[in-house]
This record gives sequence, C-alpha cells and structure tokens, in this order.
Amino acid sequence: MHEVDMTKALVLSLKEWWVASGQPKVERVHLVVGAFTGVEPVSLAFAFETQKCGTFLEAAALVIRETPFIAYCQPCRQEYQPAIGTCYGCPTCGSPLEEIRSGRELKIDHVEYSQPGVAHA
Ligand SMILES: [Zn+2]
Repeated sequence: MHEVDMTKALVLSLKEWWVASGQPKVERVHLVVGAFTGVEPVSLAFAFETQKCGTFLEAAALVIRETPFIAYCQPCRQEYQPAIGTCYGCPTCGSPLEEIRSGRELKIDHVEYSQPGVAHA
C-alpha cells in the first residue's frame, strides 16, 4: 500500500509539471529511489503501471535508479554501508548511525518528453 500512495503523489506532481509545461507527450519518467526508503522498485513500477492507464502517462515508461544506503561515521571520517546485523552502526568503530549520506531519496530525476508540433532542432 505504501507504494500505491507514493505513486499517487508522484502522478499528482507529474501532472502539475505536465500542465505547466504545455502538456507534452511523456515518454519516460526517471525516478531515484533510495535503498533506505523501504520502497520496493518492483512494487512501485507495478503501482505506476496500474495507475497510469487512461491518463496522460499512459504511454510513459518508468525508469527507476536505486541509490545505495550510505552513512558517514564522524570518528572514522569515512562513509560506510550500514547493515541490519550491526544495527546500522559503523563496522570499524561501532559508532551508532548518525549521518545518512544517501539512500533516503525518492524523487523524480528527470522526465523525457516530446512536444507535439514542435520541431526538434
Ligand atoms: Zn567509525
């Protein structure tokens, strides 16, 4: 259900952009989904497929780029990939997770589209 709500919000913001941009033909929607968002790309793609039917996004494909979960350890001054078994702490010194550098993104990266009636130079 998480992904369904996400997709609804996504479609809404895409529609605002689409109307403001003169209703171009949307070809591909590129998304960035962080590994720490709890969003399953497969579920997200499925929700998108079911919700786009009959809308301005019907012909659009969804392209999902996953970003890894990366944290930063202050004492070690280094980035690391937190693991569940270590409570997301630093694998070198054991410091608890404090700073997340990547993995919480869930956003539209960019949209590929063509303007009907406008010649591409
Ligand atoms: Zn450390």
